[in-house]
Formats: sequence, structure tokens, C-alpha cells
Amino acid sequence: MSENWSEEELRASVEAYVDMHRKEAKGEPFIKKNYYAQLSEKFGRTAKSYEYRMQNISYVYSLQGRRWVNGLKPARNVGANVIQVLERLISETEGQKLTASAEFAAVVEKLKKVTPKAPPVGNIKPANVQTTVTEYARDPAVVAWVLSEAEGICECCDNPAPFKREDGSPFLEVHHVLRLADGGEDTIKNAVALCPNCHRELHYGAEKRELVTRLRSKISRLRNGGR
Ligand SMILES: [Zn+2]
Ligand SMILES: [Zn+2]
Repeated sequence: MSENWSEEELRASVEAYVDMHRKEAKGEPFIKKNYYAQLSEKFGRTAKSYEYRMQNISYVYSLQGRRWVNGLKPARNVGANVIQVLERLISETEGQKLTASAEFAAVVEKLKKVTPKAPPVGNIKPANVQTTVTEYARDPAVVAWVLSEAEGICECCDNPAPFKREDGSPFLEVHHVLRLADGGEDTIKNAVALCPNCHRELHYGAEKRELVTRLRSKISRLRNGGR
């Protein structure tokens, strides 16, 4: 993989990935090898190179706290500049506004590996950045229903909410098992009430897939929900 990848080739790879990701979310079958073969035919690299590129794209998804295509384990051996391009291409392909969260997370990952000589100065007057984020309309009735069903107990770890809100109600967060951005539905069949720890873990944890499987077998309303 010595030769540089053109924007066109990266875009075609991202389009293939997004297509597989959508199919997986909908439970539709697909064959990864066919995607690599098509890319091979068009751009001339080996199927293996495309598979590895797909794993880089999984890495961008994982940095964003999203689920990645099953079997394409995130490969983090990719430059921040490529991550930046991949993240932009993903948002363009998915038709969503760019959030650049993977780019930021990737830079943090890199910096964590080097010991700085002195603590960073940071910014005394941080600049403000205007961002636009694609938001999905959520039904407050779904949130309210799921919260009252949980009765203040995290549906993942079964521990009580770690603290109360100012109004005295237990603090839990409602999470969509299959993200709305990934085609999940905003219904009680796809929503769970979680403590903040479990919520973050379901987005960023190494075992998030196993957690989802456990949630689905434990909570009957989630079966066949959201996909
Ligand atoms: Zn929990
Ligand atoms: Zn969530």
C-alpha cells in the first residue's frame, strides 16, 4: 500500500463501506468480498488492501462512538490526515453535516503516546467554532415511557441511578440501541434507560457489541426492535 490513494479511490471505498453499514443496520445480507472485487477492478489494488482500508473506516466510526461493520475490526494504523479525509467523505456520503469528532479523538490518541516536556498551555481565550449537527426529532413520549419503565434502575447494569436531578428524580439517560443515524427507529423497542457509565460504554466500550446482545436477551421489548 505504498502508492497514495486518490480522493476518488477513498470516496469509492467509503461509499462501499457506508452501503455495507446501512445493509447491516437493516439486517439485509451482503458479501464483503464483492465490494472489494469491484474496487479492485476499478482501481487495481488487491482485495486485501481494500479490506484493510475498510478497517481504517471502522476506526473512524469507532472514534465517533458508532458501531462498525461486523468483521471489520478497527485498524488504527492510519494518519490523522487520512482520518480527516475519511471523516469528511463519510459525512458527505451519509448526507450528514461534518462533526469532525473522529479527527479530534485521533489527535488525542496520538498525543497520549508521547510524554510532553511541560503541561500544555491550552487557550486562555478559546476561539468559538460554529458547528452544525444533524439532529433527529425524538419523541419525548418514548423517553418518558422508557424512563418510567426503568424506575430509576439502569437497564444495563441494574444499579440505581448514580445521582438524583435537582428535582429529586433519578438521573438516567435514554439511549437508542441502534443509532438513529444508522437507521434505528425512535420507538420503545429501540430505547433503553442507562446510567451514564453504561451509556458511554455502549458507545465507546471494547465490549459494546456483547453489551447489546445482553441487553436484547434481557429486555423483551428490545427483541426485533430497531432493525
Ligand atoms: Zn448502568
Ligand atoms: Zn446513546
